[in-house]
Amino acid sequence: MTIDHCDARFKTLFDPVAIGPVTAPNRFYQVPHASGATNANPRVRAGLRAVKAEGGWGVICTGACSIHPSCDDAPLPFATLWDDDDIRAHALMTDAVHEHGALAGVELFHGGGGVLNRQTRLPALTPSGKGWSSNHSVFMSPGRPRGMDAADLKDLVRWQAAAAKRAKQAGFDIIYVYAGMGYLPHEFLLPEYNERKDAYGGSMENRVRIIREMLEATRDAVGDNVAVALRISLEELLTRPGTTMETEAHEAVSLLSPHTDLFDVKMDSSPTDCGPSRFVPEASHERMAGFVKSCTDKPVVGVGRFTSPDTMVSQVRRGVLDFIGAARPSIADPFLPRKIREGREDEIRECIGCNMCIANWHEGVLVRCTQNPSFGEEWRRGWHPEKVKPAGSKDRVLIVGGGPAGLECALTLGRRGYDVAVADARAEMGGRVLFESALPGLSAWRRVIDYRLGRLKVMPNVELYPGSELDAAQILEFGFERVVLATGAAWAPALFTKMEIAGEVLDHPNVFTPSDLAAGARPEGPVVVLDYDFHVMGGVLAEQIAAAGQPVTYVTPAGGASAWTINANEQIYVHQRLHEVGVPIRTLECVSAFDGAEATLGDMLTDRETRIPCRSLVIVGLRRQNSGLYDALEDRQTDWADAGIRTVERTGDALSPGAIAHAVFYGRATAEAMDGPSFLTFRRDGPFHTPPERNGNAMIAAMAV
Ligand code: ADP
Ligand code: SF4
Repeated sequence: MTIDHCDARFKTLFDPVAIGPVTAPNRFYQVPHASGATNANPRVRAGLRAVKAEGGWGVICTGACSIHPSCDDAPLPFATLWDDDDIRAHALMTDAVHEHGALAGVELFHGGGGVLNRQTRLPALTPSGKGWSSNHSVFMSPGRPRGMDAADLKDLVRWQAAAAKRAKQAGFDIIYVYAGMGYLPHEFLLPEYNERKDAYGGSMENRVRIIREMLEATRDAVGDNVAVALRISLEELLTRPGTTMETEAHEAVSLLSPHTDLFDVKMDSSPTDCGPSRFVPEASHERMAGFVKSCTDKPVVGVGRFTSPDTMVSQVRRGVLDFIGAARPSIADPFLPRKIREGREDEIRECIGCNMCIANWHEGVLVRCTQNPSFGEEWRRGWHPEKVKPAGSKDRVLIVGGGPAGLECALTLGRRGYDVAVADARAEMGGRVLFESALPGLSAWRRVIDYRLGRLKVMPNVELYPGSELDAAQILEFGFERVVLATGAAWAPALFTKMEIAGEVLDHPNVFTPSDLAAGARPEGPVVVLDYDFHVMGGVLAEQIAAAGQPVTYVTPAGGASAWTINANEQIYVHQRLHEVGVPIRTLECVSAFDGAEATLGDMLTDRETRIPCRSLVIVGLRRQNSGLYDALEDRQTDWADAGIRTVERTGDALSPGAIAHAVFYGRATAEAMDGPSFLTFRRDGPFHTPPERNGNAMIAAMAV
C-alpha cells in the first residue's frame, strides 16, 4: 500500500501501535461486530473479514464468539469456540486476515442474563439471578437466569481459558474478555445486577474481580505472544461517583489496567452504542470514552461512526483514542483506510447511519449494508467492494431511473466497462433519496447518491441525463442493446384491515401518501398518519408534520411506533422524539373509515371503534412497483429486435419495493448479472463437520455439505 499520496495531516493514522506483544500496522481497528455469519457460514465470514484487511484495516475482529454452551444467544447469530471442532471455522478467517498483514482478534463472550440459552436449554447465569434484557430485547422470553454459585464462578474462568487456548490455536493475535453490553462480566460491574455478598460483590475492587480473573486466566492460557484485550462498557459507571476516584468508571479502568493489553470501550446498550444517525451524531462516544486514557497507559480503542479523517486525527491528537475503532464505517467502506492512505478521501463510501446492518442481525440473518451491497456477498456471490469483473459484451446500456438502484447499477456497469446512459425524469438525480434525505434527521442518507454521483461524474463511459422522462417509443428509437428500468415504486393509499393485509384503496382528496408529500402536497391538520410500513417513514412524517405546526396523531396496527425499527436500535428514539414534538401515538389500531372531517379508528384485537377529528389522512403502508414503462415495452416485444434491443429488465424498487438497501442491492445485482449468471444463483456455505469417527455417526456427516 503506498503512503505517497496520503495527506500529511492524516499520516499519524498509519503509525504502527503495539498492543502488548503484538503490533498493529496502523490505527484502523475493526472492532468486534456482528456479521450474522456463524460457524455454519465460515467461508462467508472469512470473506467479509478478509476484504477489510485488504482495504487496510490493521486489526480485524470477529463478532461475539461464545465460550460455552451456557452462552447461547439464539435466535441471534453468534460464533462459538465450544470445542476443538470449532477451531477450523475460525482458522479460515485468521488465515485470510493475515494474508493482508492485519492482526486478527476474537471477541470471546459469555452473555450471562443477556442470553437465555433457548437452543442449549442450559440454565442462564447471572451474578445474582437478575436478568439483563430478558424482558425488553427484540426477542422476549419467559425464561429467567439463575444466580451463580462459587462453582459457577470457577467454571466461567475455566471456560474462558479453554476458549482462549482454542482461539490461539485458530491463529488469533488478540483475545478478548468481553465485559460490556449487559453480558455476564458486565453484569458483575453493576450493583443492580450484582447483589453478591461474597468477594465478587460490593466494592468496585470486588465487582471487577471476575473480570480480572478472566483476564489473568486468558493470559496464562495463551502465553506471551498473544495480546489480551478487554472490551468494557462504562456508560453507567461513569455516572456514579467513585470511592477513591472521580467515578466508578475511573476506578474500574485503573483496577483492570495492569491486566489487559488494550481497552476497547463501548456504551452499555445497543441503541446508545450503535445509534442511528437520525438521532446520534458522529463521535458521540467521546462523552464516555474521553476519560479512559487518563486512567491507563494501555492503548484505547473506541468507536463513533467515524467517517471523517479529520475527526479521526482529532481523536488521536487530543488523546481520546489510540485506535480508530469502527464497525459500521468498515462495513460501508472496507477500503476506507486505503483510500485515506492513497489520498482518495473523496472516494470514501461513508456510512449513512441507517442501521440496516444491525437490523439484519436482529432479524437473525447475515448483516447487509445500504451503502455497500457487496458486504456478505464476497464469497457467496464473488462481489468485491471495489473491484468488478470486466464487461461481457460491447452492448450499450440505457438505465431509466436515477435513484439508488439506477445509480448503483450504472456505477457497477460503468466500472465493468460498459457504455452507460442514465435518464431520469426529474431535474435532479437521486430518486427517492432526494425526498427521504430531506426529512428530519435523515440528511446523512444523501450520501447514498452523493457517493455514486461523485464517482459517476468522473467516468468517461457513463452519461447522466436528468430532466429526461422517457416512454417506450423513445426507448425503442434510441436502440440501446440493453435496457434497465429502475423506475422505482409509488406509495398507495390503501387501508390496513384486521386480516393484516392492505385493504381498500381510499379515494378522497384529503388522503395522502409519502409519494404525494414528495410531490409537494401539504396536508392540513388535524392530520392522522396511519403507519403499517413499520420502518422509518411513518414516524418521520409525523415528526415533520408536527414540526410544520399541524396537529398530528400517529396510528399503527403494531405495538409501537415505527415498530420494525426496534431492529435498527431506533424505535426508542422515535417514541422519544414523537413525545417531544407532541404527537400522540395510538398503537394496535387501524383506520377503518375517513370522511374528510373524522377518522374512525378500529382496535386491532377487539370491536372497539373511536372517531377522532381528522382533516387529512396520510397512509404509509403499501408500495407498488412503477411498472407502466416495463409493461409498455413488454407489449412491444416484437419490435425489440428491429430496435436493436436484446434485453429489458427491471431493478430496484421497480423489481421489488423495499428499503434503500434493497434498491442498491438489486442495482448491483442487475449489473453483476449482465452477460453472466443470474444473481439468483449463489454459493451455499456450510459448516465444517465433526469427523465421523468423533461423532460416531458417519451417515450424518456424509450427508452434510
Ligand atoms: P429505486 O429506489 O429503485 O432506485 P427511485 O424511486 O429512487 O427507485 O427512483 C426511480 C427514479 O426513476 C425516479 O427518480 C424517477 O424520476 C425515475 N423515473 C421513473 N419513470 C421514469 C421515466 N419514464 N423516465 C425517466 N425517469 C423515470
Ligand atoms: Fe452504515 Fe447503514 Fe451500512 Fe450500517 S447499513 S454500515 S448504518 S450504511
